[in-house]
Amino acid sequence: MSDLLSRIKAVSREVGFEVIGVTSVEPMLRDLAALSGWCSSGYAADMSYMTRQPELNASPGRLVHWARSIITLGVNYYTAAPEFRHENRYGRVARYAWGLDYHDVVKAKLGELSDRIRSLMDDAGFQARGFVDAVPLLERAAAERAGLGFFGKNTNLLRPSQGSWFFLAELFVNIDLPATGEPRQVSCGTCSRCMPACPTNAFAGPYLLDSRLCISYLTIENKGPIPRELREAIGEWLFGCDVCQEVCPFNRFAEDTNWRHLRAEHGKGQRIDLIELLGISTDARFREWCKGTPLTRPKRRGLLRNAAVAAANIGCEAAVPVLSMLIVDDPEPLIRGHALWALARLELKRASKFADAALRNDNDSFVREEAEAILSGCFARQESKK
Ligand code: SF4
Ligand code: SF4
Repeated sequence: MSDLLSRIKAVSREVGFEVIGVTSVEPMLRDLAALSGWCSSGYAADMSYMTRQPELNASPGRLVHWARSIITLGVNYYTAAPEFRHENRYGRVARYAWGLDYHDVVKAKLGELSDRIRSLMDDAGFQARGFVDAVPLLERAAAERAGLGFFGKNTNLLRPSQGSWFFLAELFVNIDLPATGEPRQVSCGTCSRCMPACPTNAFAGPYLLDSRLCISYLTIENKGPIPRELREAIGEWLFGCDVCQEVCPFNRFAEDTNWRHLRAEHGKGQRIDLIELLGISTDARFREWCKGTPLTRPKRRGLLRNAAVAAANIGCEAAVPVLSMLIVDDPEPLIRGHALWALARLELKRASKFADAALRNDNDSFVREEAEAILSGCFARQESKK
């Protein structure tokens, strides 16, 4: 079997997977306990795919009942880029989302890998099923058990030689392969750089992330409003956040990806023109604008919500006309409410007039709450000036 594993590793590399490991389908009991505690503390926010059935996420054998082994794979997505500058106009995108959607790119390669492994086997009964992220499985825990890396205090899986800029994928197979995990040699040690660097203080402790405070959650998975008290700390981030990876010393070893479709030139890149984005007036135009990229995930309503917040945070005064238009015209209360907040940060006097009108005319309770917050804030400031 180890000879077969060597050949599988060789074809995996030929297909493009730089990092390969194998683990069993046995339950991940240590990680189940950690996941259950994390969920019961509320740190999973409203990500129901994490909280619904923690024991399923930790039991690969229940996910694919015929599987005997999991081939875990790592895909480097790092691309070096000039330092981000918002220039009072651009919002920032997390590195993993610069190119085309990795789900599509990696899934296609998993299919190719499956075919290559089948051709290595004489047994016509070979079965394989590939997953990339969209599965109720503790992917990082499975990859750690297969020896792909170790958990950092920022909760990412780190490879001592490469850092954390990589995606994970799995191929469940119906053959017994020798597990590759070895006792861990490396850890964060005394480093804790990522924790104080987090703009929203999202770490409840080492190895413990409160998703409710994390910019990645707030700007991508979160379907509702961004809590008012967190909006300012989000800063220039439009989609995701890389801060706790950027400060990690293991990431200084990162090298550019060989996966060309994950590079910025194939997707929307590192920075987005916020005026252009805020001007996208329909869902159809939005889908066309970001087709094939991860930016589709929060949909138009979510990404324009984020764009309004980022525009205010970077002092994008050129966004005032489009924000004003959105407050009056946009069918999505989520966008109207965040546009109101953003306008108040950029031009309070104008925003107060819109807030006053919204209180009288807008049927949505969230928009009216935002309007009230602006007006009560204005009055508080006026009072304090007396
Ligand atoms: S991704 Fe950003 S917001 Fe989330 S924990 Fe890391 S530094 Fe904090
Ligand atoms: S910044 Fe330091 S503490 Fe945080 S994950 Fe990297 S090595 Fe670990």
